[in-house]
Amino acid sequence: MSIRVAIIGAGPSGLAQLRAFQSAHAKGAPMPHVVCFEKQADWGGMWNYTWRTGLDEHGEPVHGSMYRYLWSNGPKECLEFADYSFDEHFGRPISSYPPREVLWDYIQGRVSKAGVRDYIRFNTAVKQVSFDADTREFTVTAHDYGLQQSVSQVFDYVIVASGHFSTPHVPEFEGFERFSGRIMHAHDFREATELKGKDLLIVGSSYSAEDIGSQCYKYGARSITSTYRTQPMGYKWPKGWEERPLLSRVEGDMAYFGDGSSKRVDAIILCTGYQHHFPFLPDDLTLKTANRLWPLGLYQGVVWEQNPQLIYLGMQDLWYSFNLFDAQAWFVRDYLLGRITLPETSAMQADSARWRAREDSLESTASMYEFQGSYIKHLIEQTDYPSFDIDAVNQIFLKWKTDKKRDIMGYRDKSYRSVITGTAAVPHHTRWLQALDDSMEEYLRETSGQAGVDALAQR
Ligand code: FAD
Ligand code: NAP
Repeated sequence: MSIRVAIIGAGPSGLAQLRAFQSAHAKGAPMPHVVCFEKQADWGGMWNYTWRTGLDEHGEPVHGSMYRYLWSNGPKECLEFADYSFDEHFGRPISSYPPREVLWDYIQGRVSKAGVRDYIRFNTAVKQVSFDADTREFTVTAHDYGLQQSVSQVFDYVIVASGHFSTPHVPEFEGFERFSGRIMHAHDFREATELKGKDLLIVGSSYSAEDIGSQCYKYGARSITSTYRTQPMGYKWPKGWEERPLLSRVEGDMAYFGDGSSKRVDAIILCTGYQHHFPFLPDDLTLKTANRLWPLGLYQGVVWEQNPQLIYLGMQDLWYSFNLFDAQAWFVRDYLLGRITLPETSAMQADSARWRAREDSLESTASMYEFQGSYIKHLIEQTDYPSFDIDAVNQIFLKWKTDKKRDIMGYRDKSYRSVITGTAAVPHHTRWLQALDDSMEEYLRETSGQAGVDALAQR
């Protein structure tokens, strides 16, 4: 009997797993009995944009944290699939920082070609996973909103690919309950034009803070004040954007900061990160970790050491992303197909401890993406995932960092060369700061005239 595998989530990680199984099957390996549970109506995970916030049409927590006008914040050359290039998908070179819809299209192109959509059970939210230690089987219970009924199925393996940038971490500051403006978490931010002409306060100093602030600047916020807990982002911000030490309290519409200064603000966006949250898992199967490069408990970053029939994908803090999920998914596939044998629990733990010690010793930013690159290399060496030049990707990360330092509002206008195809990206037809329409149609316009849009329509 073929093994029974449940995948929770059809975002980039879950889709990488489906593609991994399909690619082995295409070469003659048995296809496991796979069911991928996806609570949304479509695939792509975070990249499947929703205008909704709070609860979705079924009363489930809205998964999406992406917002309108979101463009990739890293070069596409750092996340390109090694088995499905941007050239193959778009049929011509595109720029290095595509908007969300374009990347969503790219993600879909590979799995459409692989023909794996039928393995996904859409509109079906996993509610509970239990493990029977005697039979060594999982029971996955989900609610199918299409059928409007609860469903239960038994599996040999469960792969958790439900993402970790969806459940917000929401700290409270003194005076919030009487603040006269709007307070929201980045998870609920959707539309920058809402803040046009407004004075905005952003709490946090990581990617969401940087990017949501940049969006709001681009779409006409009057001023942006970002407040940091550990360290300022330190970019050369445009006029009207300043960084201040951590918010200490709010009174009416006044915000007070750690250095004693104050500022009147209209709205506050908490860009304070996310929680790893798995409400469908029992405590002893639940990964508990901060957002970091090497969460403990996962052999090779994926296999739950306490019960190797449980797998997690994509739970690391991300420098690399799509290609990291691929490397993990191919490793998991080969483990499940019996091509890779796991060592004893103690050896798995010792191995993880070594990776964690390495992570703890990292000091520079460059050492962090190099660390993640070396992890990907290590996984790829164990499977037939097409190898690619990870050192060259690290070099692109380095340039990206330098470009941002030089011009935080202009770095998305830079171009890099694909390490998969060698193709040089072409500059986008409009500079990012002036590009107010982020649709794929607009993005593909012009560089090769109508041809790009037509090619897309024909696919
Ligand atoms: P997700 O994309 O989050 O997908 C998880 C899937 O699981 C979702 O479809 C969800 O509906 C489903 N799911 C969750 N719970 C259940 C359940 N109980 N039952 C059934 N289904 C469930 N990465 C980049 O590389 N470049 C970027 O520019 C970039 N921008 C980002 C911007 C924002 C605002 C955020 C929040 C993240 C960004 N990321 C970016 C990181 C992004 O999370 C990853 O690119 C990628 O989406 C992670 O894939 P995933 O499949 O692991 O998780
Ligand atoms: P994050 O990287 O985990 O950062 C969380 C931030 O919140 C940190 O600056 C942290 O400060 C701060 N913070 C947490 N608790 C706080 C508190 N109590 N008070 C003050 N500050 C607090 O989360 P993120 O920035 O949301 O990024 C998540 C993911 O989304 C990343 O993978 C990123 O790449 C992605 N993203 C991408 C885009 C894009 O592509 N356009 C846009 C946004 C986000 P400390 O440093 O002090 O801990």
